[in-house]
Amino acid sequence: MTSWSTADGVLTGEYAGWALDSATDAIIVIDEQGLVRAWNRACVDLFGWSKEFAIGRDVDFMIPEKLREAHHRGFSSAMARGGLASDGQARRTKSLREDGVSIYIEMTFAALRNDEGVMIGAVAVARPLSERDIPTHGRKRYTGPLVDVTFDSALCNHNGQCVRNMPEVFDTSRRPWINPAVADAELALRLRTTVGNCPTGALQIAEVGAPDDDPAAG
Ligand code: SF4
Repeated sequence: MTSWSTADGVLTGEYAGWALDSATDAIIVIDEQGLVRAWNRACVDLFGWSKEFAIGRDVDFMIPEKLREAHHRGFSSAMARGGLASDGQARRTKSLREDGVSIYIEMTFAALRNDEGVMIGAVAVARPLSERDIPTHGRKRYTGPLVDVTFDSALCNHNGQCVRNMPEVFDTSRRPWINPAVADAELALRLRTTVGNCPTGALQIAEVGAPDDDPAAG
């Protein structure tokens, strides 16, 4: 039988796999291309996708479609930079289960580094949100002449991206802090892009006349 661990305390071979599968949190390891390399038993329990399905597949199968582009953009720039902006911070987000239902989870990301400290992928730890923490879909709606914006504060990670990209509309020193009323035809296009780039789905476009409390939203 192989030994448990190396001299510097790293689990070897099958012990590493057993440890991953014994963890009660879902642990996902992806490589530099975003392909799943580890998918522990708790992932199977939480998301429903089997190990056979997940391993070697682009991780976007578990990311709701509207968040995929932001994920790919963020992960590519993290790999180019050699670090994650959200390293170690727990974030609320949504994920897709195998049965097609999207669920709220809390996820913590860390850069996966080799012995030389080079980022070679990422490790994510996920757990379902407790009942108390699940947002009620009480999205607040902000109305403009051409575009309405809805906001779910439970999903916002406060990275300030929207404020930096479009201070005309997003200004946290003002009340209300979102003001789509200033968006004329030209600004409305930029507003759609800014909202579409929100990495957490906290911001969404609501077409004028659409209900603002869509349980499928987010
Ligand atoms: S871009 Fe989205 S997540 Fe970032 S601060 Fe704005 S609303 Fe929050």
